[in-house]
Amino acid sequence: MSLRLYAFNCGWLTGPLGIFLAGEHGRLRVPTPCYLIDHPKGKVLFDSGLHVDLQHEPATRLGANAKVFDIECRPGDEVRARLATLGVDAGAIRFLVNSHLHFDHAGGNQQIPGAQLVVQRREWEAGHEPDQIAANYYDPRDYDLGHDLLVIDGEHDLFGDGAVVCLPTGGHTPGHQALRVRDEGGEVVLAATIRSSGRRCRRRPTPCCERTLGREPDRVQRDVGRAAERCPDQERDALRAAAGLHHPGADAEDDREHAERQRGPGKPRIG
Ligand SMILES: [Zn+2]
Repeated sequence: MSLRLYAFNCGWLTGPLGIFLAGEHGRLRVPTPCYLIDHPKGKVLFDSGLHVDLQHEPATRLGANAKVFDIECRPGDEVRARLATLGVDAGAIRFLVNSHLHFDHAGGNQQIPGAQLVVQRREWEAGHEPDQIAANYYDPRDYDLGHDLLVIDGEHDLFGDGAVVCLPTGGHTPGHQALRVRDEGGEVVLAATIRSSGRRCRRRPTPCCERTLGREPDRVQRDVGRAAERCPDQERDALRAAAGLHHPGADAEDDREHAERQRGPGKPRIG
């Protein structure tokens, strides 16, 4: 069996660096990636990028978030248009998997109305509790759209053949998940915002990590550890490092990265 995996970007966000790396100053520009996996039994879209309205009226759509983030997206960046460049109609998507429900990962869900939406139960429930919506900066207009819904608890194999597997990696949000893609040529883990999990956040926690890790650090580490066990070597090390698991060099790495950033401009280490 062979798969095809496509990656594309649906726009850019620029926000305070301290959101991504606590204690840091300045601003960081990041992409909003989406991934198409073409499996013989159906097409999978992992995340949907930004809402198309952000191309014209970001302040109206984002509310308070518009004061935090500068948005760069223009006609043609939306996920439906990106799929069209690959010759794929949005109606051909069988599964729409959201890593989590933030506006830069679920904002394009309305462009994929016919797909079955796949979300971790903890994420979906948090996205429907007023206090959690406020605490996690969700916007139900991004995801409460009447999709056929597949709410999953933990690891889930989409096609039953090990090719496309959801891996729970909570931490950034209560029910964040990554996606492992595998065929005879190898495997890759699409990590989304997993780096905001685990020890690095404990040492220099960002606001979102403090909220989640403060409630349940053991569960986050256990989930990420299990995900790591199912990954190829390179991703496994990265996931373990993110969760502070079995990686004795993690502290030294953190300190080295921090020291390099403190040395100032000309030493960018953010990838
Ligand atoms: Zn997020």
